[in-house]
Amino acid sequence: MIIGLDMGHTLSGAGTGARGYVEETVKNREAGNRLMAMLREKGHTVINCTVDKSTNDLYDRVRKANAQKLDLFVSLHLNAFKPTTSEMGVETHIYNGNYSGKEANRRYAQAIQTALVQDVKWIDRKVKESNFYVLRETVAPAVLVELGFCDSQGDMNKWNTEKIAAALFRGITGTAYVAAPVVNTGKGETFKVGDRVVVSKNATTYATGQNIASWVKGQTYTVQEVKSDRCLLSGIVSWVFNKDLTLEGAPTFQPYIVIVDTDVLNVRTGAGISYPIATTVKKGQAFTIVEVKDGWGKLKSGAGWISLEYTKKK
Ligand SMILES: [Zn+2]
Repeated sequence: MIIGLDMGHTLSGAGTGARGYVEETVKNREAGNRLMAMLREKGHTVINCTVDKSTNDLYDRVRKANAQKLDLFVSLHLNAFKPTTSEMGVETHIYNGNYSGKEANRRYAQAIQTALVQDVKWIDRKVKESNFYVLRETVAPAVLVELGFCDSQGDMNKWNTEKIAAALFRGITGTAYVAAPVVNTGKGETFKVGDRVVVSKNATTYATGQNIASWVKGQTYTVQEVKSDRCLLSGIVSWVFNKDLTLEGAPTFQPYIVIVDTDVLNVRTGAGISYPIATTVKKGQAFTIVEVKDGWGKLKSGAGWISLEYTKKK
């Protein structure tokens, strides 16, 4: 599918979102960015129609959406009414006019609404018809989802970015989102006979299964023989996995600074989307990366890991 995804409101200036126990713009971007990653991971095309700053953001969103043929336009919001501890619930809107394809819109809206009610257990405020600009002016079928009330403690207690994004994914595509297993080939780089290599201080076992003695770790040996994933090291005459070896004199990691290049970026407790979100950071913020793994960078602050795909090097 080709999906136009709109995370509602701007981050500053005109058109900012509601504030309750949480900020609408922070939460809808949390859900939206995760949804976007899920959709792209499964081969869908996502046109990001989000606008962070504009004097006419609604117009800009619709212009982005109408620049190509979309199968569906989805706008993500949070509702607001008045501060309450009670649960308020989730609702999904379609345009209230008379137009061809209205029933198709309603089917999408109902599928999304049902998935959110089932998976997040929010109160069902049903599919509604409204005269919202982004619903009225987009050419494609369009829905606007109010992901609970940002001023309802009851609703926000149920906030779970992963569940919400997966429910939206299911409602939009009609199939459940199943996370791809985390693949670790453990292959590491390859070496050749005669290379001088250092055994990692984090290595635990030889390729044969025995524990590596502590006095071996961090030491340098000459490669005597190679196989696809391991090397026989002279001196200790033992097979060590390539993943536990680095070339002697290989440059050690130099920390560097990156600037966040997306509206809101999740900081996770590990290097990958399967790890829980620890916090979020915003566009333009700078961070020092002290370790890189599988396209993820570890923050010097210790807050966690961010996907480097959404950053640029300073
Ligand atoms: Zn809103």
